[in-house]
Amino acid sequence: MSAPATSVPHLLPQGEPIIRMTGVQKWYGKFKVLSDIDLDVQPGERIVVCGPSGSGKSTLIRCINRLETVQQGRIVVDGIDLTAAKRNADAVRREVGMVFQQFNLFPHLTILQNCTLAPMRSRGLAREEAEALAMKYLTRVRIPEQANKYPSQLSGGQQQRVAIARALCMTPKIMLFDEPTSALDPEMVKEVLDTMIGLAEDGMTMLCVTHEMGFARSVADRVIFMADGQIVEQAPPEQFFGHPRHEKTRQFLGQIL
Ligand code: ADP
Ligand code: MG
Repeated sequence: MSAPATSVPHLLPQGEPIIRMTGVQKWYGKFKVLSDIDLDVQPGERIVVCGPSGSGKSTLIRCINRLETVQQGRIVVDGIDLTAAKRNADAVRREVGMVFQQFNLFPHLTILQNCTLAPMRSRGLAREEAEALAMKYLTRVRIPEQANKYPSQLSGGQQQRVAIARALCMTPKIMLFDEPTSALDPEMVKEVLDTMIGLAEDGMTMLCVTHEMGFARSVADRVIFMADGQIVEQAPPEQFFGHPRHEKTRQFLGQIL
């Protein structure tokens, strides 16, 4: 992977975070799912988010592309205030790509069509342009030869790489991953992680919810540990794994390592 992943230069002043969450609180009914979230992410930063099931990891990253709204606090993504105006949701979705545990490909569309749909519909690209872009990213995730197949004809690992290519076709500045390898057979985990490592090496800003601690150690600039809707601890991987400070972090690491 050689071409830079972020082809759109960001217009942020030097040193400004590309994501800033301040005092974010979110409830589902009476249940508080996010509590006092303050989080700054710098352009190019690679963040791994981990924590027990139900701790709010998915909700946290879904707030960043406004798949979820919050009741209190402020979320600014690349200068776009998500908590200000509803129309900002569309603007931010063009900047933030997301990859889910279940690949969420359209089963009735070919791989190529899966990749060209959003660029044609929401960015107004002509078909030829969208197809050229799709082939570029399918080549990048090393499955250009699958372009005319349907999702069900591909392995799980291949489908997840298509999902990554499809997100990249919107030329996002930020990529969010929500447990992208959790639904994969073990032998397919590596090919997806390798694709993500390639993106990281190209300088993509990434937030990855994952329990792949090998990936966290080798790729993350920062590991964030969540419990009960709060960010309990965050540190560079050496410190996070070598000297976790909180009892909850130690317990969690004890269970998964
Ligand atoms: P994680 O990704 O860390 O497993 P989630 O962010 O998915 O956690 O969920 C955090 C908590 O919020 C869980 O207790 C979950 O049951 C609850 N939750 C998630 N989505 C909803 C929803 N749409 N309505 C009500 N509760 C929800
Ligand atoms: Mg989750």
